[in-house]
Amino acid sequence: MKKIVQKDNKVLREIASEVPVDEITSEKIQNIIKDMHESLAGERDGVALAAPQIAVSLRIFVISPLAYNYEERDGAEKIDPKEISRERKLVFINPKIIWKSNDSKKMDEGCLSVRPWYGKVKRSSRATVEAYDENGKKFEMEGRGLVAQIFQHEIDHLEGILFIDKAKNLKEINLE
Ligand SMILES: [Zn+2]
Repeated sequence: MKKIVQKDNKVLREIASEVPVDEITSEKIQNIIKDMHESLAGERDGVALAAPQIAVSLRIFVISPLAYNYEERDGAEKIDPKEISRERKLVFINPKIIWKSNDSKKMDEGCLSVRPWYGKVKRSSRATVEAYDENGKKFEMEGRGLVAQIFQHEIDHLEGILFIDKAKNLKEINLE
């Protein structure tokens, strides 16, 4: 498990590099993805993690399966975490937002690299991402609510942007 770097670390301010598509299935990239899942799973309040947060300046982020049960889905039942990876992607490589809804909402936001700060950030309530999965397969996925917020927050990480650059009403909250 790799340590999650904190906000003064310069790697968080770099523009992350694209992963060459033919290297996605390489041992090096697969190990980075594994490290990211492990580091995220070790954080009880974490829903997603970008590679720069484990000091790897590559365009990859991962989502916790739990995040999908907070996604806004019309009349949807909770998805069994074991079933999630079949219905929803957990790994996003070279992600791009290809569509965002015009309505923006102020959403509560925090970051595993900016502990223990929280604030309100305006985010589109729906967003569609195009990315490659861990097998090198290209896909598109629309997210709503928390998942749309995650897409925007994580892709900001890949551009060297932290939520505190955009947040209003920053507050320190210790979740103990
Ligand atoms: Zn973050």
